[in-house]
Amino acid sequence: MKKPMPALFSLLFLISCLGRQSNTHTDNPQKDSPIKPATSIIQDTSSKDPVQKMASAVEILAKKQVPILCYHQIRDWKPTDSKRAKDYIVPVDAFKQQMKMLADSGYHSILPDELYDYLTKGTPLPSKPVMLSFDDTDLEQYSIAYPEMQKHHFKGVFFIMTVSLNRPRYMNSQQVKELSDAGNVIGSHTWDHHNVKQYQGKDWEIQIDKPTKLLETITGKPIRYFAYPFGLWNKQAIPELKKRNFVAAFQLITQRDDEDPLFTIRRMIVPGYWSLATLQHYMNKNF
Ligand SMILES: [Zn+2]
Repeated sequence: MKKPMPALFSLLFLISCLGRQSNTHTDNPQKDSPIKPATSIIQDTSSKDPVQKMASAVEILAKKQVPILCYHQIRDWKPTDSKRAKDYIVPVDAFKQQMKMLADSGYHSILPDELYDYLTKGTPLPSKPVMLSFDDTDLEQYSIAYPEMQKHHFKGVFFIMTVSLNRPRYMNSQQVKELSDAGNVIGSHTWDHHNVKQYQGKDWEIQIDKPTKLLETITGKPIRYFAYPFGLWNKQAIPELKKRNFVAAFQLITQRDDEDPLFTIRRMIVPGYWSLATLQHYMNKNF
């Protein structure tokens, strides 16, 4: 048998050492995860890879949660806005100050794929990660939030309720595509915001299948993330979402499911009357 060339041999040894070394510098609690070359984890968010060991539910639940902020309307209050409505309406200046505070404090916005890789494979996140999420297709998310986020190099995830597309005061398909093309993520938020806990038979097709197909046509990308309307979910909904190729789903601030933490990821609504200090307080307390 031919002897391996010494140069090649030492190169292989070096690569193997580097692989091991870089692995020990991640804060991956999966102690028994296989050591893989660094290139194999980049952009790989497929849950179908048979070689990749996915973190268990217990391991995912043990990880530090990333603060995920949830916004709806971004506009100045009207005299007719009730106290309860103001939970969902962040005044324009308040939103701008919040983005500036996050940037000045060293936060880095992350996207769902990065969160998914962190939770399932231990892929490291940037320092002070935060996720910015937007529900319900309101136009100001495109006209106000998006340019403000660009100033700070932030990207976010926009959960679209497709019934509202192209209606007055809501985003149109072209604006959704522009957000997607700019590197933001488009997720599904049903057709018309019906509570997932009440779906039967054809509801899955109307609320999930058709809107997903439409969003995929608009963006030209697969739609992999879902946000529950009102943050409401039940155990029966999770296999239905999995069947439809979603890899994670976002609720609001209630406890995560013991068996399916990826389908009950927590987010926090930022009420319109919160000060910057209150926002910071709850980002630390709730996650
Ligand atoms: Zn909603």
